Amino acid sequence: MYDALIIGGGAAGMSCALVLGSAKPKAYATHKNIGIVIHQKTSHLQTALFNNVLGLTPGTTGASILNSGKEQLSSLYPHIDQIDNEKVLEVSKKDNYFKVKTNKTIYDTKIVVIAVGYTNLMTIEGLNQYIEPHPRAAIAKDRIWLKNTDHLIEENLYVAGTLAGWRSQFAIASGSGAHVATDILTLWNGGKHTKVHDKVEV
Ligand SMILES: Cc1cc2nc3c(=O)[nH]c(=O)nc-3n(C[C@H](O)[C@H](O)[C@H](O)COP(=O)(O)OP(=O)(O)OC[C@H]3O[C@@H](n4cnc5c(N)ncnc54)[C@H](O)[C@@H]3O)c2cc1C
Repeated sequence: MYDALIIGGGAAGMSCALVLGSAKPKAYATHKNIGIVIHQKTSHLQTALFNNVLGLTPGTTGASILNSGKEQLSSLYPHIDQIDNEKVLEVSKKDNYFKVKTNKTIYDTKIVVIAVGYTNLMTIEGLNQYIEPHPRAAIAKDRIWLKNTDHLIEENLYVAGTLAGWRSQFAIASGSGAHVATDILTLWNGGKHTKVHDKVEV
């Protein structure tokens, strides 16, 4: 049983995983089982080129971030399960947890974060009732969002990134994933607001 399972290994999903992973030393997070279905084939990062993102060297490719993000996650926070080569087909509610069915197996998890991007090709069963036209994209592009309030679709079911209704910019999608992570950490911390900061030792 996962405590939190992130679906999607793009900007939002990997950012969410990094922040959740970084909370390992905190008592409220140390024993949590966290996973990410790190499917990246259809990430918008595959063809993106970044010149306008603070902290990224101009000319950085999205494809390089897909690789370096996975490496950053596995080297700094190896306790996060990276589930490779699987695609999610269905998310369903069972009592007080969720079943996440992939093309290979079924995972049980208490919390789900959906971060699969805002394309209308999204075909995960069990989410159809939340799909609406994207509120901040050109109508002609036919983008979608999962209706939510502050990233929360329903109890313990979160959406992050462009699929949460944000415009498609790398920093926004990453920030959305980080935002969801701190919401989950706050939940695990008994509702007391929390964040994770590293600092330079002097
Ligand atoms: C050509 C191009 C150029 C861009 N240039 C810029 C730029 O210059 N500056 C800027 O700020 N932004 C730019 N962007 C936008 C930026 O790349 C996106 O805003 C960002 O990638 C969105 O992040 P996301 O996590 O919402 O979606 P994505 O990064 O698309 O991630 C979604 C992830 O979900 C996975 N997934 C999908 N379906 C499933 C499933 N069923 N099961 C499991 N996983 C699944 C996908 O494989 C993917 O890894 C550009 C985008 C494109 C396409």
